[in-house]
Amino acid sequence: MIALSLAEIAEVVGGQTHDIPDPTVQVTGPVVRDSREAGPGSLFVAFAGERVDGHDFAAAVVVAGAVAVLGTRPVGVPAIVVDDVQAALGALARHVVRRLGATLVALTGSAGKTSTKDLIAQVLQRKAPTVFTPGSLNNEIGLPLTALSATEDTRFLVLEMGARGIGHISYLTGLTPPKVGLVLNVGSAHIGEFGGREQIAQAKGELVESLPEDGTAVLNADDPYVRAMASRTKAKVIFFGESDEADVRAENVRLTDTGQPAFRLHTPSGASDVTMRLYGEHHVSNALAAAAVAHELGMSADEIAVALSEAGSLSRWRMEVTERPDGVTVVNDAYNANPESMRAALRALAAIGKGRRTWAVLGKMAELGDEALAEHDAVGRLAVRLNVSKLVAVGGREAAWLQLGAYNEGSWGEESVHVSDAQAAVDLLRSELRPGDVVLVKASRSVGLESVAQALLESG
Ligand code: ATP
Ligand code: MG
Repeated sequence: MIALSLAEIAEVVGGQTHDIPDPTVQVTGPVVRDSREAGPGSLFVAFAGERVDGHDFAAAVVVAGAVAVLGTRPVGVPAIVVDDVQAALGALARHVVRRLGATLVALTGSAGKTSTKDLIAQVLQRKAPTVFTPGSLNNEIGLPLTALSATEDTRFLVLEMGARGIGHISYLTGLTPPKVGLVLNVGSAHIGEFGGREQIAQAKGELVESLPEDGTAVLNADDPYVRAMASRTKAKVIFFGESDEADVRAENVRLTDTGQPAFRLHTPSGASDVTMRLYGEHHVSNALAAAAVAHELGMSADEIAVALSEAGSLSRWRMEVTERPDGVTVVNDAYNANPESMRAALRALAAIGKGRRTWAVLGKMAELGDEALAEHDAVGRLAVRLNVSKLVAVGGREAAWLQLGAYNEGSWGEESVHVSDAQAAVDLLRSELRPGDVVLVKASRSVGLESVAQALLESG
């Protein structure tokens, strides 16, 4: 963080100082909410959760070197006391980003935020010091904490923004107003909570509504809901996508023999070839989004193409392809699932496993509301059409729907198996897998199928 005195922080957040002998002492960072991350110069933000109350760790963080605690009551060590810790954290982030010399890039979408944020960071880093959201910390707490981790040197601050309802993105852009705002897609993630795709588009579009006139909205030309957001912003608009009208587009998109996407990247400043290290054709769209942002921030097509070709995954359990010593390949995409990413992952499985025996170990896609049955059925059908060799559907009724889709599409009987839980899937696979097989593991976060991928890798 940029250095701020306790007096200044107290003023910014409208807090009372308690037990602070010297208010000119500076916080030099980091700002942390996990007491185990507190160190010299840090500010500890105490949240009172249901099970754990951060205030209980006040003495410990000061021993570890923290300068003060930001909380809702005096704790016997230097503290800034406020009514609402989340609001105070937000106010501090807003204050700090105003003082930074960094360009703020924010992105949202239904699927691919973290993957794309990681790509953007790896591309921009080649040009200048870049700070970005660690993992998927994209909410009202993770976002300000990320912004506060920027320093004077930071030139680009890349922020993932998540939305579970109307007004969420507006809240986040109010804290850290972006100059460049990217919207990836409007899919069906959280559709049950939102009530419909129109509502999701309404919520995601708040990002481009927040942009200033001299900002840039980066929009997906291939997604009609995102394309329509062009009318909701006063900023300049650039489009990315496979469509010919897109400013940043891909030509000759294909999967290499090893199943990785390759394409010719076109930006308004030139064209250059990209061969990705990441797996899954859905990354083409993510790469184009990253390229559009980088182009807008002054990078050439050649620079961008090299960076995209060398970029790896920075986050766990997203299309992690690992080959066991016995030649079984495990594709761990167990981080999360929605209909779009299920389809993309199945197509990647088909490409990686061409000529080999392929297994799709799939669990439920959560939060689909009324569309749940139809969407699971459609995924089961797609597995058949892509010639996946075996479907292992894991869990309750959604798994049954997956299996039913496969039955309806291809009269699949023995080709698909329904097991009750992750352990049963592991037991089945351990006895059935043969050298050369390729196994995809994917479901919504709550199913926790990464345990299957891990067990398979350990038993290899
Ligand atoms: P979250 O809302 O959990 O933060 P996210 O939007 O950050 O998710 P990622 O973590 O990047 O998304 O990816 C989630 C899942 O979606 C992964 O399984 C990934 O393979 C898949 N995915 C990534 N990019 C796309 C895309 N452009 N279209 C569809 N699916 C995608
Ligand atoms: Mg994410």
